[in-house]
Amino acid sequence: MKEIILKGVPAATGIAEGPAFILDKQDFIVPPRAIMEKEVPIEIARFEEALIRTREEILGIQKKIGAEITGQHAQIFDAHLLVLEDRTLIEDVIKRIKEEKLSCEYIFSEVLKKYIKMFSKIEDEYLRDRVGDVNDVGRRILKNLMDESKLHELDNLTEELVIVSHDLSPSDTASMYNKNIKAFVTDVGGRTSHTAIMAKSLGIPAVVGLKDATLHIQNQDNIIVDGRKGLIIIHPSEETKISYRNLAARILEIEGTFQAIKNLPAETPDGKKVALSANIELPEEIPNILNCGAEGVGLFRTEYIYMNRVDLPTEEEQFAAYKQVAEALAPNQVTIRTLDLGGDKFISSLEIPRDMYPFLGWRAIQFCLARPDIFKAQLRAILRASVFGNIRLMYPMITGPSDLRQANAILNEVKTNLRDEKIKFNENVKIGVMIEVPSAAMTADLLAKEADFFSIGTNDLIQYTLAVDRVNEQTDKFYDPGHPAILRLIKQTIDAAHRSKISVGLCGEMSSEPFLALILLGLGLDQFSMSAAAIPQIKKLVRSVRYVDAKELAADVMKLSTGEEVEEFSKKRLRELAPFIFSSEKEN
Ligand code: PEP
Ligand code: MG
Repeated sequence: MKEIILKGVPAATGIAEGPAFILDKQDFIVPPRAIMEKEVPIEIARFEEALIRTREEILGIQKKIGAEITGQHAQIFDAHLLVLEDRTLIEDVIKRIKEEKLSCEYIFSEVLKKYIKMFSKIEDEYLRDRVGDVNDVGRRILKNLMDESKLHELDNLTEELVIVSHDLSPSDTASMYNKNIKAFVTDVGGRTSHTAIMAKSLGIPAVVGLKDATLHIQNQDNIIVDGRKGLIIIHPSEETKISYRNLAARILEIEGTFQAIKNLPAETPDGKKVALSANIELPEEIPNILNCGAEGVGLFRTEYIYMNRVDLPTEEEQFAAYKQVAEALAPNQVTIRTLDLGGDKFISSLEIPRDMYPFLGWRAIQFCLARPDIFKAQLRAILRASVFGNIRLMYPMITGPSDLRQANAILNEVKTNLRDEKIKFNENVKIGVMIEVPSAAMTADLLAKEADFFSIGTNDLIQYTLAVDRVNEQTDKFYDPGHPAILRLIKQTIDAAHRSKISVGLCGEMSSEPFLALILLGLGLDQFSMSAAAIPQIKKLVRSVRYVDAKELAADVMKLSTGEEVEEFSKKRLRELAPFIFSSEKEN
């Protein structure tokens, strides 16, 4: 088959190769399972038995309710029985089991999808409507071949696969933790969409915004995912495979050299120390972040605890999660951000109508201030966990001192209640503000007087400042972290924090991009928070570059007029100061 190369948005770095698995939310997830030659008759017999059982079930239902229903309704069952007797479908399945030597449920699910697609395209309305029958009967047969509750679960994936989907919601990606997933590839999405963020947390490469990848890829197609360049290669040639395997080996070797310094401090040769901490979504990430040498957690995105469940997490459940992370990281800091619902993060247990422009809709602190019941439960859980480690609390999407005061008023109520109930918490827990809305950066001097620390959220700051949707692949080229407006807002925030003697970190994706990290170092940022896998490389960078050189570079880029100029200038200087950053380039 001919090699096909598609270009998308690089979302999480790394190289992976594996068979594709198309994840379509309407579909059932049936994993391909290889069988041996001698198992072929067994699989065919299983399939035939499932057909017989399904037939008996349908006849049973028809008999049971037959007396009550007549005419059109009764015909539904006749139509279902006809599907079961469709020789073309049955023979198609048997032929493919023999040829492909894969389990009958997988082959049947593939044939079924093909039939559903075929029927949906038929012009004749009556025949097109039969798609529902095919679907219903198909599901019944599948249920007789495997556990129904497992039909949609990613747990079914036993082989290591490249997930291919039109889109992946934050809850889809959250459920992929500890699953057999090599990479993901989506038609839509931008580089700071939560699909990208979760891929980084999972430590797997991702390419998003490929526009029509799902049209080019079939299940089981061999794919190479190049997360550094945002490329995917479908049916790679032998030559391409060898070249990528060499590159992957080289990257592994380079990463090994970063790993060697992972427990050393993040300190420049001329003595400027910064903190390199991790962004996490779930407590399950603790072993990984410890392994990467993170100095604590700079951003705990707590909204993921609220996902993939039918109800809200209780105070006790949240307390257990926050305590677990605080204890594991102590004495290092854990910065817990309160619920940042909204944008592209929705919670199924809260039936909130979707906004037309979700990123300008009801989100984060605005939601929490309006729903003190939900907010207070979380604040109680965080405060209670604060005696088990070094917890800091941080509010998302603050726009200025007014929001901060309102949030603190609720926090103070919660503190009073805890005192009355004689429940212990750290009375000195630090309260921070995310600077991710332009108005917060503009009022950083005012906010710095009332907050204990800042964390700059550039993922949002960039989208709100430059009017670009962070999850839209069409606007990706306008998503420009080096834009002079962004650099000025960041500098202004850092300077305001330092004038008020409070610390300032940055937890957007930009802190892990070496040429930008170098600028941030020069601007005087105190804490860099990023997905754990990126920490060793940035630590090596910090340990290789003198602070005086970074400061000089930052002063120089502040005079430039465009993001491209900033990137070109900073990368050129980075090549001189830390050439190892580019050492995998010659390979591919
Ligand atoms: C940010 O906006 O930069 C940030 C870190 O928060 P999130 O990506 O969760 O919106
Ligand atoms: Mg944000």
